[in-house]
Amino acid sequence: MTNTANFHPSIELLNDFTQGKLATGMSVALSAHLELCEACQEKSSELESEAAKSWAKVADDQVTPDFSDMISTIVGQAQNSEQESAGKQERPPVNEIHMLHHSVTLPRVLAKAASQGLVWKRLAGGIKQASVILDNKTQCEFIYMTPGSKVPVHRHQGSEVTLVLDGSFSDELGHYKASDFMVRTKDNLHKPASEEGCLCFAVLDNPLTFTKGFAKLMNPFIGYKFRKALAARA
Ligand SMILES: [Zn+2]
Repeated sequence: MTNTANFHPSIELLNDFTQGKLATGMSVALSAHLELCEACQEKSSELESEAAKSWAKVADDQVTPDFSDMISTIVGQAQNSEQESAGKQERPPVNEIHMLHHSVTLPRVLAKAASQGLVWKRLAGGIKQASVILDNKTQCEFIYMTPGSKVPVHRHQGSEVTLVLDGSFSDELGHYKASDFMVRTKDNLHKPASEEGCLCFAVLDNPLTFTKGFAKLMNPFIGYKFRKALAARA
């Protein structure tokens, strides 16, 4: 796939990723971006070889960073946590998600994540959401914004990572296209909207807080749903 991303994970996040410090959900999002972005693949290989050098000065050449190994490890982690939480047999990967007028081919790591089965729920503003369970620290979901949809203004209690898989969306800070990887923290108040429609994979490490009007009424419910989902995973 061609590298068209304009927004990439920070070097700190890549570093945490290569050192295995991230929750599985976050690793899956990052790994999916790496599948789509050569520049970040190269950076993460460099980080890995730097780490390998500093940890094993004597064996410089014996430790060869291998990107495809890392992908299989993460795919394996996603699969294991899926099986642990669901107690189900391995299912074939879901390679594509069908949108309004076309199909979107998923990065391998997301195809694996989606194999646990996607149940789409309709949310307000033309948004559809399908959750996947990858660990007990993050809330992971595919989000499909139908053309012309808007998410109510919201603030995050934790951070949210969004990877665009198809189409595009905008918020106050920019316009995002396929392969773009964004992190929003609790300091960002934002209001995403998509004219042409958009498929994303999002990872939250805390529930959203809606700040305006009617959607505010949903807050306790979102908190409840999130706690319930976490309890079900424990
Ligand atoms: Zn990148």
